[in-house]
Amino acid sequence: MKQSEYYIPTLKEVPADAVAISHQIMLRAGLVRRLASGVFSFLPLGYKVIRKIEEIVRQEMSAIGGQEFLLPALNPIEIWEQTGRVEAMGNVIYRIESVEGDNFILAPTHEEIITFHAKQHIKSYKDMPQIWYQIQTKFRNEPRPKSGVIRGRQFTMKDAYSLDSTWEGLDVAYQKHYDAYYKIFDRCGLKYFVVGASSGAMGGKKSQEFMIESNSGEDVCAVTSNYAANIEVATSKVEPVGRVNNNDAIEDFATPNAKTIDDLVEQFNIPEHRCAKSVVYIVEDDPWLILMRGNDELNETKLQAITGTTNLRPATNEELIKYTGADHGSIGPVGIKDGIKVIADNLLKDANGMVSGANKDGCHFKNIDLSRDAKIEAYYDLRTIKEGELCEADGQPLRIVKAIELGHIFKLGTKYSEALGALFVDAKGNENPIIMGSYGIGIERIMACYLEHNCDDKGIIWNKALTPFDIHLLGLNIHKSEIVKETCEKLLSNLENAGYDVLFDDREVSVGVKFNDADLIGLPIQIIVGEKNLKEGNIEVKFRRTDERQIIKIENILHFVKEKY
Ligand code: ATP
Ligand code: MG
Repeated sequence: MKQSEYYIPTLKEVPADAVAISHQIMLRAGLVRRLASGVFSFLPLGYKVIRKIEEIVRQEMSAIGGQEFLLPALNPIEIWEQTGRVEAMGNVIYRIESVEGDNFILAPTHEEIITFHAKQHIKSYKDMPQIWYQIQTKFRNEPRPKSGVIRGRQFTMKDAYSLDSTWEGLDVAYQKHYDAYYKIFDRCGLKYFVVGASSGAMGGKKSQEFMIESNSGEDVCAVTSNYAANIEVATSKVEPVGRVNNNDAIEDFATPNAKTIDDLVEQFNIPEHRCAKSVVYIVEDDPWLILMRGNDELNETKLQAITGTTNLRPATNEELIKYTGADHGSIGPVGIKDGIKVIADNLLKDANGMVSGANKDGCHFKNIDLSRDAKIEAYYDLRTIKEGELCEADGQPLRIVKAIELGHIFKLGTKYSEALGALFVDAKGNENPIIMGSYGIGIERIMACYLEHNCDDKGIIWNKALTPFDIHLLGLNIHKSEIVKETCEKLLSNLENAGYDVLFDDREVSVGVKFNDADLIGLPIQIIVGEKNLKEGNIEVKFRRTDERQIIKIENILHFVKEKY
């Protein structure tokens, strides 16, 4: 392919709102252009990479028996109403009304439509197992899309669904996808880790996420070299607060200027861990008081898992006063009104010598023995872990990192088959709902995540699997040198005949521009044809990743490339 005829609009400057490294480089190297917030056009060079990723995904899905579908983006809203997801997903869903008044949505995912077709055709346990997948466009009205194609409002997903007649069958399908995802991400050259995602409010079914570490990520994970967990569920090894010898009776004391744990620590010289912080939440409609150690943060996702609902929120100031009689600075578990459920973090189990609010403004209790003085219904792991705490699994200090989710595998169970009545007859003649799994990968995210880790200040460093072209052939001063032109043309045809996809820089631009653009575009190998080397019968080869350069005899070049690539 002649670069002079190929559309690669590289940029020197990128817009200030392009903050993610991957987004900046995709704009600079002419891979994508923005059309609207969260909506991107892929240009020829970028689309070639997308096609390569799709092909890897397709091969690995096919290898586990996946059958490729193409489901429509335009979905009748009624099907989505039957599963309750129009309401549950709310504003994320784009809705369309035809002039005739028919209502559609633009599908953000396809569990409903897969289940609809399964209901039509899967009648017996003998019709399963099935793995159905597609690589298709999704629409999500993401609230504040940033980071370029990492969070688009229109994006491509590989979404797969398993249909089984037994729970063991679901385990097998889940494991197949887990293994396939390793192969896909390994082949793409990604450095990733797997975390168990929060499953509580989703119904307690197993789910895992494949993540890459990146400052452009919106997820937060706790990792060591051999442990990784989403911060929503991560645990750590921390000594419990425990007991002091002195077990005096509780006593109140005035704290007019202490609104926070820090204030208490500073003004009264109380060790932070001897302070119990009370947080009040409204769970569905009921008030809960949650007791945490010192400045530990309550983890809302853990609370959701414990309460079994996502319908919870911190109480407002008015609610605090209504339920406890005090504002947020002086709330505590001792003498709390009936009707408020009190739970506490595991680190406070059996603790005494504690300080906490007295449910009276400007007043605290000391010498609290939680077992003796408070009615704590149960202790749970409720806290968000902190950087540097030791991992329970391997004892190493945990790092807290930002991460991007590449893919998600999820044991759905029978939620959708029950809602849509997708039943099958088992071996005993009984009707049961189909047991399902759902498995997604973001195609553009693979590309963006690769770029998050594989750029330098000059540009992209592609690997063999994803590179848009295999080889960049640079003809230096080609418009001024017949021998450079001839050699390039001959080389191009030899390389293409050998099966390489070659981008041939035949443009009438300076040597400096060629070198800079080649480094920016980042193809793995540059073959540099210049008059000076040709005079000695030589050609220079440069490897983009290592910057290693070698001078090769013209007649050996094909052999050399084949050996190296
Ligand atoms: P996130 O938490 O990042 O919003 P999600 O949990 O909504 O992701 P899923 O619904 O599990 O994602 O979708 C499967 C995959 O689709 C994700 O793992 C991700 O790779 C990709 N994906 C999801 N939302 C987007 C988006 N807005 N833009 C690009 N890719 C996306
Ligand atoms: Mg999302």
